[in-house]
Amino acid sequence: MPTSGPQRTCIGCGTHANRAALVRIVRSPDGSIHLDQTATLPGRGAWIHPDAGCVQNARARRGLARSFRTGNVTDGVWDDVEELINHQ
Ligand SMILES: [Zn+2]
Repeated sequence: MPTSGPQRTCIGCGTHANRAALVRIVRSPDGSIHLDQTATLPGRGAWIHPDAGCVQNARARRGLARSFRTGNVTDGVWDDVEELINHQ
């Protein structure tokens, strides 16, 4: 595992990874939650591997709700992440 570069924790499997290997999901200052493909949007971020298993895990464990401390997580976010994975 490369040790250089910022490390983030995947909310699906819980392992640390270089942020370049992860996808960012952001809770914007306005409270909306969405996929942040460029990893540059303002707000609180959560990170996940672009992997169907990690997405499934995060959904089952309500990983986003825990990361963002809100129950206001819509399925649309996951639809976007899954679409991203499917189009890799
Ligand atoms: Zn993962």
